[in-house]
Formats: sequence, structure tokens, C-alpha cells
Amino acid sequence: MKQSFAIIGLGRFGASVCTALIEAGQEVLAIDRDEDRVNEYMDIATHAIVANAQDEMALRSLGLRNFDHVIIAIGEDIQASILVTLMAKEMGVTRITAKAQNTYHAKVLEKVGADRVVHPERDMGERVAHQLISKNILDYLELSDEYSIAEIQISNDKFADKSLLQLNLRQKFGLNVIAIRRKNQRLIVSPPADEVVLLNDVLFVIGETKDVEHMDDVMN
Ligand code: ATP
Repeated sequence: MKQSFAIIGLGRFGASVCTALIEAGQEVLAIDRDEDRVNEYMDIATHAIVANAQDEMALRSLGLRNFDHVIIAIGEDIQASILVTLMAKEMGVTRITAKAQNTYHAKVLEKVGADRVVHPERDMGERVAHQLISKNILDYLELSDEYSIAEIQISNDKFADKSLLQLNLRQKFGLNVIAIRRKNQRLIVSPPADEVVLLNDVLFVIGETKDVEHMDDVMN
């Protein structure tokens, strides 16, 4: 279903969210105080407008509360990002996602009403670090401080040619397999217990991050 998004701030983050949403067929109003940035996105976003989001009148006239989702992608000017989040909340915006520069910024954004706070540099740094440390973990998504979803490649004979029942990852590592990606990108979602895992299969597992790391250690 088509949803409407307003993105405030067309830096690298806001701009890539804008492009991805448009590619996914969504409606996007792109807002920036910098005219050059807005001109760049004039033909990409559904609408693009020059406005200083810190100006309450300007923000109100954009009718933010009519959008399904507002993304506040102002980074460096932390004060502006907090103020705009607060004003959007007060205007009755239903879903606000805000980009944080650091942990304190994130805490304040949550307190003033952001429903979701993203930390792209930190999150990407963590993902890349996990990929660098391990040859088995291809990708990694932190769900909370404790839980993750990881893509683990079966690169060890000890784990290959055995069914999920035999591998018993839930008992051994506390991990649940939610999908398997096989050769030629074939995806087996919610694999049955008798599914046999092959060498080079990629398992999508969900569980505590420490348990993902434990399984990875055992596989190395
Ligand atoms: P990125 O890492 O995504 O490139 P950044 O964290 O460096 O961004 P900034 O460059 O400070 O963040 O801001 C992103 C965009 O937000 C810029 O294009 C800037 O013009 C715009 N912006 C900043 N403040 C406001 C404001 N008050 N109203 C509208 N746009 C703003």
C-alpha cells in the first residue's frame, strides 16, 4: 500500500532514504533549507520544498500531520533536530523517525517524541565490524542491545549435510533458524526440521548476539 513520507534534511542519509522510498513506489515530500539540495531532488521526490524546519509557521504550513511518516534527517545541528522532532510531535504527527548523531542525542530525541531513532553511522560500523571479524557472518542486524538476526554461512563440514533437527541449534546455541538461502539465491523460509543444511548454505538465525558469536566461534 502506498504511504506518504515527509523527509526533513536531504544530507546523505535523508537523500538515500528519499531515493529508496521513491524506488519502492512511495510518496515523498522532501524538505531542506538549502535550495541546491532541493533542486537536486526536484525530479526524484514526489514534491521538494525549500523551508527552514525550525520555523514553526513554515513547518505548520507543510501540513506534516497529514503524512503517515515523518523522517527527521538533520544531523549536525543537534539543536535543530531536537526542536523539529518536538514540533512535529506537538503537531500530532503519527510516526516520527529521527536520525541521531550520538547516544545522548538519541536519548533526547526519544524523550521529545521520536517513535524510532536511527544511528546510521554507528549501526553500519557495527555491521561492518562483525563482517570483518568473522568469515562466517555475512550480515548482521541488531534488534536490541541483546538480540540480533545474523546471516551465517555454513563453511564448516561439521555443520553440513545434517538436518536442522540433527544440528539442533536451538538447544546447542539458543538460536532459531528463520530462513536458509541456498545456491542461486533460492530462499527457504521457515524451514522444516528435516531440511538438510548443505555446505555454503546461508542460515538466517535469530537469537542473543552472544549466542550468534558463540556459534560463529565453534564454526571457525
Ligand atoms: P548526512 O550525514 O546525512 O549527510 P549530516 O548528519 O551531516 O547529514 P547535515 O548535513 O547537518 O547532517 O544536515 C542534513 C541536511 O539537513 C542538510 O542538507 C541541511 O541543509 C538540512 N537541514 C539542516 N537544518 C535544517 C533545517 N532547520 N531545516 C531544513 N533543513 C535543514
